[in-house]
Amino acid sequence: MRLQVKKPPITLFYSLISVLVFLLCFSFFAFRPISETVKEGQKSPEYTSSTISVCPNSSIVDQNLSVVVGDNEPPTITLNGDAEIKLDYGKKFEDPGASAVDNCDKVSVKTEGEVSSKEPGTYTITYSATDESGNTGEIKRTVTVKKRIVQQSSAPTSGSKIIYLTFDDGPSIYTSALLDTLKKYNVKATFFVTGAGSDDILRREYNEGHSIGLHTFSHGYSYIYSSTDNFFADLYKIQNRVENATGLKSYLMRFPGGSSNTVSRGYDGGSHIMSRLARQVTDAGFAYFDWNISSGDAGGASTSSQVANNVIRALGSGSYVVLQHDTKGFSVAAVETIIQYGLQNGYTFLPLSMGSPTAHHGISN
Ligand SMILES: [Zn+2]
Repeated sequence: MRLQVKKPPITLFYSLISVLVFLLCFSFFAFRPISETVKEGQKSPEYTSSTISVCPNSSIVDQNLSVVVGDNEPPTITLNGDAEIKLDYGKKFEDPGASAVDNCDKVSVKTEGEVSSKEPGTYTITYSATDESGNTGEIKRTVTVKKRIVQQSSAPTSGSKIIYLTFDDGPSIYTSALLDTLKKYNVKATFFVTGAGSDDILRREYNEGHSIGLHTFSHGYSYIYSSTDNFFADLYKIQNRVENATGLKSYLMRFPGGSSNTVSRGYDGGSHIMSRLARQVTDAGFAYFDWNISSGDAGGASTSSQVANNVIRALGSGSYVVLQHDTKGFSVAAVETIIQYGLQNGYTFLPLSMGSPTAHHGISN
């Protein structure tokens, strides 16, 4: 005998579940938010209907949207630093640069234009950036290179029998007496000054027609010769001092110890700092001077007559850059004898200027 079993109403239940699942899936795909389909990191497109604008590299997967692909917005460029820069003659232009941002793409800044710090004038630097759709943004900066301030220059410096008296390490308590002597004979000299002494004396040197050169502010070998950064910081410090006291921006200089010094070997870690400095100060617009007659006042000589003799016996028929120190009373006291000898023997005394003989030594470090 066959048993008749009645089926339960389970079919209807399954059908209802299927419909529900279908509805859930449909609503998930149909009403999924569009912003989800835009590439990460991009601005969400604004839209009110089914048409939106998006960056060209965005990936839109929604088939129901009509997408307008396009980017008309150029990158925005911002200058670092000022839009107008004034640069001292000879000073290297350090470009502060610019930065760029774009609504769609990663962009980089292209820089065009150069500044020649040895040719005074106004230069334009253009910074631009182009996005992947070809939109270019740009911004400009002007750099004005100031005129070179030439030292007091005298008559022609070529020819023979010229004496350039130079005095290092001052101003000092002996400098006024020296200025009196120079004034008495109307002789112009050159002072390679440091951070020592008073601004009044500096001003007097300048106002009486002498040349002012730079001999670093500290004259401290261990500091200035341990790095080129230290050296330049100290050099610009004395340049500022002179400028603040006199209004003159000096580009004449003398290395403490001269360019041939070997004392710097003790501080530069074997990096041949003098070779580098000689090049770098020249690139920065300075003229450095050594000497071809040493008075010996920093070593061998200790009296005025020794100083005068050392100078006088070295004179011939050329151009002479004489080294003395106005920090030594006995050396200052020898100047009158030297001047008298020079004038009686047909020499012309001149202050150094940018074009004067430099009497460079051989660099030994
Ligand atoms: Zn010195």
